[in-house]
Amino acid sequence: MKRRDVVILGSTGSIGTQALDIVRAHPERFRVVGLTAGGSNPALFEAQVAEFAPQFSGLGEEASIAAAARGCDVVLNAVTGAVGLRPTLAALEAGNVLALANKESLIIGGPLVRDLARPGQIVPVDSEHSAIAQSLRAGTRAEVRRLVLTASGGPFRGSSRAELERVTPDQALTHPNFAMGKVITTNSATLVNKGLEVIEAHLLFDVPYDRIDVVVHPQQLIHSMVEFVDGAVVAQLGLPTMLVPISLGMGWPDRVPDAETPIDWTKAADWRFEPLDDDVFPAVSLARAAGERGSTAPAVYNAANEECVEAFHDGRLAFPEIVDTISRVLGAHGVPSKENLTVDDVLAADSWAREAAHRMIRGDLTAS
Ligand code: NDP
Ligand code: MG
Repeated sequence: MKRRDVVILGSTGSIGTQALDIVRAHPERFRVVGLTAGGSNPALFEAQVAEFAPQFSGLGEEASIAAAARGCDVVLNAVTGAVGLRPTLAALEAGNVLALANKESLIIGGPLVRDLARPGQIVPVDSEHSAIAQSLRAGTRAEVRRLVLTASGGPFRGSSRAELERVTPDQALTHPNFAMGKVITTNSATLVNKGLEVIEAHLLFDVPYDRIDVVVHPQQLIHSMVEFVDGAVVAQLGLPTMLVPISLGMGWPDRVPDAETPIDWTKAADWRFEPLDDDVFPAVSLARAAGERGSTAPAVYNAANEECVEAFHDGRLAFPEIVDTISRVLGAHGVPSKENLTVDDVLAADSWAREAAHRMIRGDLTAS
């Protein structure tokens, strides 16, 4: 495998630091040529720049756009949130392979991002979608019948609505299996993350929503599965870490040796599967509806969520009100009927949804 020149956006985060660990372990495979971050951890960022000596480094959205547009082999977008959209578009426009952890940019950009990408230009880093991409190697596209996304169920699996009312920010930041950034950890607890991932799967693999299932699998050893027309189900298994999806994202289609410790089959284990409780956790069905509406609805779902997550962590919103508020904001959103979505349409819907969420969180009566 030829050594890849890699640009990492969001290098100080959970995904970014793990990507740098992989680069550090495999200098024969990867070379860092660009690093960006948001600026909240300048000491770590400076240390990364000193260690990896990239040709380009900078802080903030503009720096991330510039870095993504540089000629390189692969851009890993590991920024959190809708701010990842312009860097994603810049990487695709420049013709770079995009290893996509920042699912938000694909979800809110929707057809805008998908249509800009040539086949294979986006390599998923989200573990479920990496698992599906790996499983899809087992058959042809015409042979695919369903995608099955696994979900941990989050720390509040089995809880009632009344129990969710009492959830504190600290409790919501305790993910059963993964150590991740604040937003995605909270999204895993509300199941908004799984909702976003259903939309992500639809956009990445072009499978209709009624053929994308979610199953709760608390151990998260099966990362997701593909059902083929003959009834065969092909899955990707491994410990619940991001090392395989990140290394495969940067190295695709090549696997990086010893990226992860394999599952130990000499130990007895029980793996559980259960249906998702849509009544207590309506985030997934809400996301499906937003995905089916299309246009700016997914951007509104995401932006309202980002604002609600902040409000929840600031003590301004109760835990179940995160998804209640997203639902109300979506209800107030008039999806533009025009076919061709522009970046400005998406960003306008994003801003509108943040404002609407703020008003609802403050308790204003009018939604729009
Ligand atoms: P973190 O919050 O840990 O890290 C986010 C990174 O983005 C930080 O480096 C942050 O910099 C940077 N950043 C924030 N704002 C900007 C900006 N305006 N311009 C440039 N960089 C910015 O998040 P995660 O690593 O957990 O997640 C990153 C993405 O990957 C998300 O989209 C998430 O959904 C996805 N993902 C994460 C998984 C995980 O296991 N963590 C699993 C699957 C998907 P700073 O430190 O300076 O704020
Ligand atoms: Mg995931």
